[in-house]
Amino acid sequence: RVAEILAGWEFERVQDRGLDEIFHIVDERTRQKVESPVDKVLKSSKAELGADFEVLLAMDGGERPISSKAALIRSSDGAVTGIVMVFRDVAREREIERLKQDFISSISHELRTPLTSIKAYTETILSDSDMAEETKRQLLGIIDEESNRLAGLIEGLLEISRIESGTMKIVREPVDIVAVSRKVLTALQALADKKNVRLESDIDDDLAIFEGDEDKIQSALTNLVNNAIKFTHQDGRVCVSVRQRDDQLVMRVSDTGMGIPKEALPRIFDRFYRVPHPGKHIQGTGLGLAIVRKIVTMHGGRIEVESELNRGTTFTIFLPLTAAALPESQPAN
Ligand code: ADP
Repeated sequence: RVAEILAGWEFERVQDRGLDEIFHIVDERTRQKVESPVDKVLKSSKAELGADFEVLLAMDGGERPISSKAALIRSSDGAVTGIVMVFRDVAREREIERLKQDFISSISHELRTPLTSIKAYTETILSDSDMAEETKRQLLGIIDEESNRLAGLIEGLLEISRIESGTMKIVREPVDIVAVSRKVLTALQALADKKNVRLESDIDDDLAIFEGDEDKIQSALTNLVNNAIKFTHQDGRVCVSVRQRDDQLVMRVSDTGMGIPKEALPRIFDRFYRVPHPGKHIQGTGLGLAIVRKIVTMHGGRIEVESELNRGTTFTIFLPLTAAALPESQPAN
Protein backbone atom coordinates (compact mmCIF):
# COMPACT_ATOMS: atom_id res chain seq x y z
CA ARG A 1 0.00 0.00 0.00
CA VAL A 2 2.87 2.34 0.71
CA ALA A 3 4.18 1.69 -2.76
CA GLU A 4 0.88 2.90 -4.10
CA ILE A 5 1.16 6.18 -2.28
CA LEU A 6 4.86 6.80 -2.67
CA ALA A 7 5.65 5.37 -6.05
CA GLY A 8 2.28 5.49 -7.74
CA TRP A 9 2.10 1.73 -8.39
CA GLU A 10 -1.20 -0.04 -7.93
CA PHE A 11 -1.22 -2.87 -5.45
CA GLU A 12 -2.09 -5.52 -8.02
CA ARG A 13 0.76 -4.49 -10.30
CA VAL A 14 3.31 -4.43 -7.52
CA GLN A 15 3.07 -8.10 -6.69
CA ASP A 16 5.82 -10.32 -8.07
CA ARG A 17 7.95 -7.37 -9.08
CA GLY A 18 11.41 -6.65 -7.78
CA LEU A 19 11.68 -3.88 -5.24
CA ASP A 20 14.12 -2.01 -7.45
CA GLU A 21 11.50 -1.77 -10.10
CA ILE A 22 9.00 -0.17 -7.79
CA PHE A 23 11.19 1.96 -5.59
CA HIS A 24 13.22 3.57 -8.29
CA ILE A 25 15.66 5.71 -6.34
CA VAL A 26 18.21 8.02 -7.96
CA ASP A 27 20.78 10.51 -6.71
CA GLU A 28 19.27 13.97 -7.04
CA ARG A 29 22.44 15.49 -8.47
CA THR A 30 23.88 12.76 -10.68
CA ARG A 31 20.52 11.18 -11.58
CA GLN A 32 22.29 7.80 -11.23
CA LYS A 33 20.45 4.94 -9.63
CA VAL A 34 21.57 4.51 -6.01
CA GLU A 35 22.23 1.19 -4.40
CA SER A 36 19.03 -0.19 -2.99
CA PRO A 37 18.86 0.04 0.79
CA VAL A 38 17.72 -3.59 0.75
CA ASP A 39 20.89 -4.76 -0.97
CA LYS A 40 22.96 -2.67 1.40
CA VAL A 41 21.31 -4.08 4.49
CA LEU A 42 21.61 -7.64 3.24
CA LYS A 43 25.33 -7.14 2.64
CA SER A 44 26.14 -5.47 5.93
CA SER A 45 23.41 -7.08 8.05
CA LYS A 46 22.98 -3.91 10.07
CA ALA A 47 20.58 -1.00 9.74
CA GLU A 48 21.53 1.18 6.78
CA LEU A 49 20.74 4.74 5.87
CA GLY A 50 20.20 5.67 2.27
CA ALA A 51 22.38 8.18 0.45
CA ASP A 52 22.12 11.90 1.21
CA PHE A 53 20.26 13.22 -1.81
CA GLU A 54 17.83 10.53 -2.80
CA VAL A 55 14.87 11.06 -5.03
CA LEU A 56 12.16 8.48 -5.45
CA LEU A 57 10.84 8.40 -8.99
CA ALA A 58 7.17 7.54 -9.13
CA MET A 59 5.61 5.49 -11.90
CA ASP A 60 4.09 8.60 -13.44
CA GLY A 61 7.47 10.35 -13.50
CA GLY A 62 6.75 12.41 -10.37
CA GLU A 63 9.68 12.95 -8.03
CA ARG A 64 9.78 12.91 -4.27
CA PRO A 65 12.90 13.71 -2.24
CA ILE A 66 13.21 11.05 0.41
CA SER A 67 15.38 9.89 3.20
CA SER A 68 15.45 6.11 3.40
CA LYS A 69 16.49 3.56 5.92
CA ALA A 70 16.40 -0.23 5.96
CA ALA A 71 16.93 -2.81 8.68
CA LEU A 72 16.72 -6.57 8.97
CA ILE A 73 13.90 -8.22 10.87
CA ARG A 74 15.04 -11.29 12.75
CA SER A 75 13.13 -14.03 14.51
CA SER A 76 14.02 -14.95 18.09
CA ASP A 77 16.60 -17.47 16.89
CA GLY A 78 18.36 -14.79 14.83
CA ALA A 79 17.21 -15.90 11.39
CA VAL A 80 16.42 -13.08 8.96
CA THR A 81 12.71 -13.10 8.27
CA GLY A 82 12.31 -9.85 6.45
CA ILE A 83 13.42 -6.30 5.95
CA VAL A 84 11.75 -3.14 7.09
CA MET A 85 12.21 -0.06 4.93
CA VAL A 86 11.38 3.43 6.04
CA PHE A 87 10.92 6.23 3.55
CA ARG A 88 10.58 9.72 4.86
CA ASP A 89 9.30 12.45 2.56
CA VAL A 90 11.79 15.29 2.99
CA ALA A 91 10.27 17.72 0.49
CA ARG A 92 9.46 20.24 3.22
CA GLU A 93 12.95 20.04 4.74
CA ARG A 94 14.50 20.53 1.31
CA GLU A 95 12.28 23.54 0.72
CA ILE A 96 13.36 25.07 4.04
CA GLU A 97 16.96 24.38 3.15
CA ARG A 98 16.47 26.13 -0.19
CA LEU A 99 14.79 29.11 1.47
CA LYS A 100 17.71 29.39 3.88
CA GLN A 101 20.20 29.34 1.03
CA ASP A 102 18.23 32.01 -0.80
CA PHE A 103 18.06 34.01 2.39
CA ILE A 104 21.80 33.90 2.96
CA SER A 105 22.46 35.06 -0.55
CA SER A 106 19.84 37.83 -0.43
CA ILE A 107 20.86 39.04 3.04
CA SER A 108 24.51 39.21 1.97
CA HIS A 109 23.46 41.22 -1.03
CA GLU A 110 21.21 43.47 1.05
CA LEU A 111 24.00 44.15 3.53
CA ARG A 112 26.63 44.70 0.89
CA THR A 113 24.71 47.22 -1.21
CA PRO A 114 24.37 49.99 1.39
CA LEU A 115 27.86 49.31 2.69
CA THR A 116 29.32 49.69 -0.78
CA SER A 117 27.76 53.11 -1.22
CA ILE A 118 28.66 54.24 2.30
CA LYS A 119 32.24 53.29 1.58
CA ALA A 120 32.32 54.86 -1.87
CA TYR A 121 30.83 58.19 -0.75
CA THR A 122 33.01 58.36 2.34
CA GLU A 123 36.10 57.81 0.20
CA THR A 124 34.96 60.49 -2.23
CA ILE A 125 34.56 63.02 0.58
CA LEU A 126 37.88 62.08 2.16
CA SER A 127 39.79 62.27 -1.10
CA ASP A 128 38.48 65.67 -2.15
CA SER A 129 39.44 68.32 0.35
CA ASP A 130 38.10 71.09 -1.89
CA MET A 131 34.64 69.60 -2.25
CA ALA A 132 31.88 72.19 -2.26
CA GLU A 133 29.92 72.29 0.97
CA GLU A 134 26.69 71.65 -0.92
CA THR A 135 28.02 68.49 -2.63
CA LYS A 136 29.44 67.27 0.64
CA ARG A 137 26.08 67.67 2.33
CA GLN A 138 24.39 65.74 -0.47
CA LEU A 139 26.83 62.85 -0.18
CA LEU A 140 26.53 62.84 3.60
CA GLY A 141 22.77 62.70 3.16
CA ILE A 142 23.12 59.53 1.07
CA ILE A 143 25.51 58.03 3.62
CA ASP A 144 22.97 58.78 6.32
CA GLU A 145 20.15 57.17 4.33
CA GLU A 146 22.19 54.08 3.57
CA SER A 147 23.24 53.73 7.22
CA ASN A 148 19.58 53.85 8.19
CA ARG A 149 18.85 51.11 5.71
CA LEU A 150 21.62 49.00 7.15
CA ALA A 151 20.40 49.62 10.69
CA GLY A 152 16.85 48.67 9.63
CA LEU A 153 18.05 45.42 8.12
CA ILE A 154 19.96 44.48 11.23
CA GLU A 155 16.99 45.42 13.40
CA GLY A 156 14.82 43.10 11.28
CA LEU A 157 17.27 40.26 11.76
CA LEU A 158 17.38 40.83 15.50
CA GLU A 159 13.59 40.97 15.63
CA ILE A 160 13.23 37.68 13.80
CA SER A 161 15.74 36.09 16.12
CA ARG A 162 13.77 37.39 19.12
CA ILE A 163 10.65 35.84 17.58
CA GLU A 164 12.40 32.52 17.02
CA SER A 165 13.76 32.39 20.53
CA GLY A 166 10.41 33.45 21.99
CA THR A 167 11.91 36.51 23.68
CA MET A 168 10.00 39.16 21.76
CA LYS A 169 7.99 41.11 24.31
CA ILE A 170 5.21 43.59 23.89
CA VAL A 171 4.49 46.39 26.30
CA ARG A 172 0.82 47.27 26.68
CA GLU A 173 -0.13 50.86 27.21
CA PRO A 174 -2.69 53.24 25.74
CA VAL A 175 -1.67 54.11 22.20
CA ASP A 176 -2.81 57.08 20.16
CA ILE A 177 -3.29 55.11 16.99
CA VAL A 178 -4.25 58.17 14.93
CA ALA A 179 -0.95 59.83 15.79
CA VAL A 180 0.96 56.62 15.08
CA SER A 181 -0.68 56.25 11.67
CA ARG A 182 0.06 59.86 10.76
CA LYS A 183 3.66 59.45 11.87
CA VAL A 184 4.07 56.43 9.59
CA LEU A 185 2.54 58.28 6.65
CA THR A 186 4.76 61.31 7.18
CA ALA A 187 7.86 59.16 7.45
CA LEU A 188 7.13 57.36 4.19
CA GLN A 189 5.91 60.34 2.18
CA ALA A 190 9.36 60.96 0.69
CA LEU A 191 9.64 57.35 -0.47
CA ALA A 192 6.22 57.60 -2.13
CA ASP A 193 7.14 60.94 -3.73
CA LYS A 194 10.26 59.42 -5.24
CA LYS A 195 8.08 56.99 -7.20
CA ASN A 196 5.30 59.47 -7.65
CA VAL A 197 3.01 57.13 -5.75
CA ARG A 198 0.02 58.90 -4.22
CA LEU A 199 -0.18 58.20 -0.51
CA GLU A 200 -3.76 58.58 0.70
CA SER A 201 -5.20 58.20 4.13
CA ASP A 202 -8.63 57.65 5.55
CA ILE A 203 -8.15 57.74 9.29
CA ASP A 204 -11.07 57.92 11.67
CA ASP A 205 -10.15 60.62 14.18
CA ASP A 206 -12.57 59.37 16.77
CA LEU A 207 -11.12 56.03 17.79
CA ALA A 208 -11.42 54.44 21.19
CA ILE A 209 -8.20 54.07 23.16
CA PHE A 210 -6.17 51.12 21.97
CA GLU A 211 -3.97 49.23 24.39
CA GLY A 212 -0.85 47.86 22.83
CA ASP A 213 2.81 48.30 22.06
CA GLU A 214 3.21 51.58 20.23
CA ASP A 215 6.65 50.87 18.76
CA LYS A 216 5.63 47.46 17.49
CA ILE A 217 2.38 48.67 15.94
CA GLN A 218 4.22 51.52 14.30
CA SER A 219 6.79 49.13 12.92
CA ALA A 220 4.07 46.76 11.60
CA LEU A 221 2.24 49.57 9.84
CA THR A 222 5.49 50.99 8.49
CA ASN A 223 6.30 47.61 7.05
CA LEU A 224 2.98 47.26 5.27
CA VAL A 225 3.04 50.77 3.84
CA ASN A 226 6.67 50.41 2.84
CA ASN A 227 5.86 47.17 0.99
CA ALA A 228 2.83 48.78 -0.63
CA ILE A 229 5.00 51.58 -2.03
CA LYS A 230 7.78 49.18 -2.99
CA PHE A 231 5.51 46.84 -4.95
CA THR A 232 3.53 49.61 -6.64
CA HIS A 233 4.54 51.00 -9.99
CA GLN A 234 5.33 54.60 -10.72
CA ASP A 235 2.21 56.80 -10.50
CA GLY A 236 0.27 54.24 -8.49
CA ARG A 237 -1.73 54.74 -5.33
CA VAL A 238 -1.42 53.51 -1.74
CA CYS A 239 -4.19 54.04 0.77
CA VAL A 240 -4.06 53.61 4.54
CA SER A 241 -7.34 53.42 6.37
CA VAL A 242 -7.83 53.12 10.11
CA ARG A 243 -11.29 52.56 11.56
CA GLN A 244 -13.03 51.04 14.49
CA ARG A 245 -15.45 48.19 14.07
CA ASP A 246 -17.18 47.32 17.35
CA ASP A 247 -14.37 46.53 19.76
CA GLN A 248 -11.78 46.07 17.05
CA LEU A 249 -9.37 48.37 15.36
CA VAL A 250 -9.21 47.73 11.62
CA MET A 251 -6.12 48.98 9.80
CA ARG A 252 -6.03 48.52 6.07
CA VAL A 253 -3.21 49.18 3.62
CA SER A 254 -4.15 48.84 -0.01
CA ASP A 255 -2.17 49.50 -3.13
CA THR A 256 -2.62 49.50 -6.88
CA GLY A 257 0.62 47.58 -7.36
CA MET A 258 1.81 44.39 -8.95
CA GLY A 259 -0.23 42.06 -6.74
CA ILE A 260 0.69 38.63 -5.44
CA PRO A 261 0.12 35.41 -7.38
CA LYS A 262 -2.59 33.23 -5.84
CA GLU A 263 -0.26 30.32 -5.19
CA ALA A 264 2.13 32.58 -3.25
CA LEU A 265 -0.52 34.05 -0.95
CA PRO A 266 -0.42 31.29 1.69
CA ARG A 267 3.33 31.68 1.97
CA ILE A 268 4.00 35.39 2.13
CA PHE A 269 3.92 35.43 5.93
CA ASP A 270 6.58 32.72 6.10
CA ARG A 271 10.01 33.87 7.18
CA PHE A 272 12.36 34.49 4.27
CA TYR A 273 9.69 33.89 1.65
CA ARG A 274 9.67 36.33 -1.26
CA VAL A 275 7.69 36.07 -4.46
CA PRO A 276 10.25 35.45 -7.18
CA HIS A 277 10.54 38.21 -9.78
CA PRO A 278 13.06 36.84 -12.24
CA GLY A 279 15.27 39.42 -13.82
CA LYS A 280 14.28 42.16 -11.38
CA HIS A 281 16.02 43.12 -8.21
CA ILE A 282 13.62 44.32 -5.56
CA GLN A 283 15.17 45.04 -2.21
CA GLY A 284 14.03 42.94 0.70
CA THR A 285 14.69 39.99 2.94
CA GLY A 286 11.35 38.25 3.28
CA LEU A 287 11.30 38.98 7.01
CA GLY A 288 8.90 41.92 7.14
CA LEU A 289 5.56 40.15 6.93
CA ALA A 290 6.64 37.38 9.30
CA ILE A 291 7.42 40.09 11.86
CA VAL A 292 4.16 41.94 11.16
CA ARG A 293 2.10 38.79 11.66
CA LYS A 294 3.88 38.01 14.91
CA ILE A 295 3.26 41.52 16.23
CA VAL A 296 -0.40 41.27 15.30
CA THR A 297 -0.94 37.85 16.89
CA MET A 298 0.87 38.95 20.04
CA HIS A 299 -1.78 41.67 20.33
CA GLY A 300 -4.50 39.04 19.98
CA GLY A 301 -5.32 40.16 16.45
CA ARG A 302 -5.10 38.73 12.97
CA ILE A 303 -3.93 39.83 9.53
CA GLU A 304 -5.57 39.10 6.19
CA VAL A 305 -4.44 39.64 2.64
CA GLU A 306 -6.33 39.94 -0.61
CA SER A 307 -4.58 40.40 -3.88
CA GLU A 308 -5.10 40.39 -7.59
CA LEU A 309 -2.17 40.12 -9.94
CA ASN A 310 -1.36 43.41 -11.68
CA ARG A 311 -4.27 45.08 -9.88
CA GLY A 312 -3.13 45.49 -6.31
CA THR A 313 -3.00 44.14 -2.80
CA THR A 314 -4.80 44.86 0.44
CA PHE A 315 -3.53 43.89 3.86
CA THR A 316 -5.97 44.22 6.76
CA ILE A 317 -5.01 44.06 10.41
CA PHE A 318 -7.71 43.42 13.01
CA LEU A 319 -6.72 44.29 16.57
CA PRO A 320 -8.86 43.96 19.68
CA LEU A 321 -8.97 47.38 21.36
CA THR A 322 -8.17 46.18 24.84
CA ALA A 323 -5.62 43.77 26.10
CA ALA A 324 -8.17 41.66 27.98
CA ALA A 325 -7.77 37.92 27.62
CA LEU A 326 -4.73 38.12 25.40
CA PRO A 327 -2.42 35.17 25.20
CA GLU A 328 0.76 35.97 27.15
CA SER A 329 2.98 34.01 24.86
CA GLN A 330 2.51 32.27 21.58
CA PRO A 331 4.70 29.83 19.75
CA ALA A 332 6.99 31.41 17.17
CA ASN A 333 5.57 31.24 13.68
P1 ADP B 1 10.37 41.73 1.70
O1 ADP B 1 9.49 42.90 1.40
O2 ADP B 1 11.57 42.09 2.48
O3 ADP B 1 10.68 40.91 0.49
P2 ADP B 1 8.11 40.77 3.27
O4 ADP B 1 8.07 39.67 4.28
O5 ADP B 1 7.75 42.13 3.73
O6 ADP B 1 9.57 40.73 2.67
O7 ADP B 1 7.19 40.37 2.05
C1 ADP B 1 7.29 39.06 1.52
C2 ADP B 1 6.91 39.05 0.07
O8 ADP B 1 5.50 39.31 -0.07
C3 ADP B 1 7.58 40.13 -0.75
O9 ADP B 1 8.85 39.75 -1.19
C4 ADP B 1 6.61 40.27 -1.91
O10 ADP B 1 6.85 39.28 -2.86
C5 ADP B 1 5.26 40.02 -1.27
N1 ADP B 1 4.55 41.29 -0.92
C6 ADP B 1 4.45 41.87 0.28
N2 ADP B 1 3.70 42.98 0.24
C7 ADP B 1 3.32 43.13 -1.04
C8 ADP B 1 2.52 44.09 -1.76
N3 ADP B 1 1.95 45.13 -1.13
N4 ADP B 1 2.33 43.90 -3.08
C9 ADP B 1 2.88 42.84 -3.71
N5 ADP B 1 3.64 41.91 -3.10
C10 ADP B 1 3.86 42.04 -1.80
